[in-house]
Amino acid sequence: MHIIDLITKKRDGKALSKDEIAFLISSYTQGVMPDYQMSAFLMAVYFKGMTHEEATHLALAMRDSGDVVDLSEIPGIKVDKHSTGGVGDKVTLVLAPLVASLGAKVAKMSGRGLGHTGGTIDKLESIPGFKVELSRAQFIKQVKDIGLAVVGQSGEVAPADKKLYALRDVTATVDVIPLIASSIMSKKLASGADAIVLDVKVGRGAFMQTINEARELAQLMVDIGKMAGKKVTAILTGMEEPLGHKIGNALEVVEAIETLKGHGPKDLVSVVMAIASELVIDAGIAHDVNEAEKLLNEAINDGSAYDKFLQFIEAQGGDPSSLMHPEELLSKKTINIRANKQGYIHQIDALSIGQAAMRLGAGRETKADSIDLSVGVDLHVKVGDPIDFDQVIATLYVSDRGIDEASKMIVEAISIGEKPILEPLIKEIIR
Ligand code: URA
Repeated sequence: MHIIDLITKKRDGKALSKDEIAFLISSYTQGVMPDYQMSAFLMAVYFKGMTHEEATHLALAMRDSGDVVDLSEIPGIKVDKHSTGGVGDKVTLVLAPLVASLGAKVAKMSGRGLGHTGGTIDKLESIPGFKVELSRAQFIKQVKDIGLAVVGQSGEVAPADKKLYALRDVTATVDVIPLIASSIMSKKLASGADAIVLDVKVGRGAFMQTINEARELAQLMVDIGKMAGKKVTAILTGMEEPLGHKIGNALEVVEAIETLKGHGPKDLVSVVMAIASELVIDAGIAHDVNEAEKLLNEAINDGSAYDKFLQFIEAQGGDPSSLMHPEELLSKKTINIRANKQGYIHQIDALSIGQAAMRLGAGRETKADSIDLSVGVDLHVKVGDPIDFDQVIATLYVSDRGIDEASKMIVEAISIGEKPILEPLIKEIIR
């Protein structure tokens, strides 16, 4: 096989075979194929696309470039979820203990936040003492013992994807559906779960801005999962306004705790319920969505979901007493933002709110940036709420970074006007 022939084949719109894709990926990972040839190939994919089979071969070749986690020692069906990234998305913090409290096995590797989207690992690190690194043996033992562990990505998961993503970032080829789908799925397939639910975000604050793009991405990821022998479900959920009220690491832990205690915001609860229902059905705990929702509501109402959260935090070295008064984890310096007119909350631009939280220090612009876990934005309103002149609409938890800029961005991100027509948050489920 010759690299140039394979670039030519894709440039001419033909489908590559499994062996040809595996050859390209191994040549690139081993440094035999230079960046300029891979760039030409990626651009050919941008223009000519890939079949679902090709995207599957690509995902599997990238998965096999590194460690594939073996969870077979853990009895039962192992479940996982993945979000394509949103603002205020603390779903994993609520969902993982919730489904584990019903007996599902959650062995989860999570990422750190980058740009305007947060990461579960950073959020968990705002709990004093919490360790995000466990040895492989500790990780497996914890899931066997309590049904739940969440760790940062360790070892070399899909190194081919890491190298390709860095190249895509500088060659205008990030935004290519088969490349996004195979990138996400290479890492999910390496994480060892039997059943995976994907939360594909749609809207201003998300990677996919339109429902058609999101549907195409979701369908492709479900097909890749199926061809790779996994059960994958995708749920398309709205990301026009942030999820819940709180954006920022410790702030999102506070909101997750409120939700686990049964006082969560409606939108967050509905996304958690939709994903958790699929997972408990996949795990064989419920037969259908009605039964799943009943069991999930019981686990919240009888305290078992919150107890599982405490058990999980303690198992990973976190101090459970710090969660008795989680507001202590927040910065003591706050600034209130007030409405400059009366009306209805017409729009809350998730992207701008995420960027404002990042300016305050809650997120990273580059991987090397340090973050402040105690800062962020608490929105007191949701789209559709009536609002009076001078009412406090948001509280910023701040330190010394970006206060003026973030305040201005928040004011501009929240528009007050006519009562809007509310769109459903759960848009589609692709099984
Ligand atoms: N997330 C990923 O992991 N990969 C992409 O290509 C895009 C988003």
